[in-house]
Amino acid sequence: MLDDAGLKALREAARLSPDNLPLRRHLAEQLLAKGYLADAEAEFRAALLLAPKDVDITAGLAEAFVRQSAHGAALAALEPLLATPGYPPRLGVLAARALLGEGETGKAGYRYHEAVSRDPSVADAELEGRLSAPPAPTIQPEPVPAAPAGDSAQGGAEVERSQFTFADVAGMEAVKEALRVKLLLPIQQPELFAAYGKRAGGGVLLYGPPGAGKTHLARAAAGELGASFVNVGLADILDMYVGSSERNLRATFDMARRNRPCVLFFDEVDALAARRSDMRQAHTRQLVNQFLAELDGVDPTANEGVLVLAATNAPWYIDVAFRRPGRFDQLVFVPPPDAAARAAILRILCRDKPLAEMDFDAVAKVTEQFVGADLKGLVDRAVEAKLQQSLAAGRPVPMSTPDLLAAAQGLRPTSVREWLATARNYVLHANESGAWDELMPWIKGKW
Ligand code: ADP
Repeated sequence: MLDDAGLKALREAARLSPDNLPLRRHLAEQLLAKGYLADAEAEFRAALLLAPKDVDITAGLAEAFVRQSAHGAALAALEPLLATPGYPPRLGVLAARALLGEGETGKAGYRYHEAVSRDPSVADAELEGRLSAPPAPTIQPEPVPAAPAGDSAQGGAEVERSQFTFADVAGMEAVKEALRVKLLLPIQQPELFAAYGKRAGGGVLLYGPPGAGKTHLARAAAGELGASFVNVGLADILDMYVGSSERNLRATFDMARRNRPCVLFFDEVDALAARRSDMRQAHTRQLVNQFLAELDGVDPTANEGVLVLAATNAPWYIDVAFRRPGRFDQLVFVPPPDAAARAAILRILCRDKPLAEMDFDAVAKVTEQFVGADLKGLVDRAVEAKLQQSLAAGRPVPMSTPDLLAAAQGLRPTSVREWLATARNYVLHANESGAWDELMPWIKGKW
């Protein structure tokens, strides 16, 4: 480690050549090593401006934040990289430390467990001890009215009644049609299916960029069907203790079976269903095997009336065993919305608000690459501004097109382009079975 004179010389050198990235990174790392946390933070920030996606710099900045107990800032710095499939496991450990600092023990446990299962060398005994100290609190799903029964599995997932139907999902006609045939028709018109010798069953794997509406669609499918809805997040299943994750998974399936007809939705399923060859730890492989066993059911009627949907941003990580008949035998791409779909999403998001005449197409035009989640953020932002105006005026001031346009100005879309670039790497040379046909037009240059 440098002494203070060396550090001073390094600072001077960095001041003289501010665009020298390796030099700035080195200075930042030295400052961090010596515990000059605020200075390290400032240097990492400056370096990040030169190389916005640099993993080492992001990790350094996040560590500087964590050590200053700025856990939220650390998570914000890590977020873009954590959203990228296959992110470096050490970032997961940093995120776990930050999450623990925020009191999110369940999520922290998941991040840690996931990181160490991919690379055991990042294990951190001290952190592990802190993670397993108190029982992990569970993550609650979005606040949607619960079913009267109020059923819940020991892992934390709960039974909901969805207040959405397909009418609340803008665009995506092809996706809705695929789900209708797969999920709804066999239940709504069983005679027709029986006549053709087809049996209801098997799950659907929804994949696409983050925020494109996979969860919304699954919830709407439950509402459309009049079925209960169980939204299973990773933190509901993954547990630090060997064997507990399998138990949580079994309890979740059992809960869905008790509440049939039920749509059982697994978000971020790639972590539960990853290729077993990618897993270094035997107990993670056991979880995958347990998941396969639950999907198959102990007998052919075990999962009758339970429709399993799953979502992933990284379908290429899923073990092929999950794609066999009766499991996730249908892959459905949930695409980023085009201009017409964005206008339709905006219309849906604004429909209960006091509105002047709106030109949603104009807003759709300036929000290229925005996905549903981005558009929701935009509308929330415009509503907040309008609320303040209304409070000042003492009456509701209706929202208008310029309000949405203004809200759009400061916003950047999440990473659809990056997602498609990653998808291109994975699937372009691996589409022999035609599994990625729906995705092909998108990765071959539509964006
Ligand atoms: P994902 O599960 O793909 O990450 P979400 O389903 O969480 O994305 O989408 C985030 C939010 O964006 C939803 O809660 C919903 O409000 C909105 N949204 C996304 N797609 C649509 C759509 N097609 N129609 C209406 N709202 C949508």
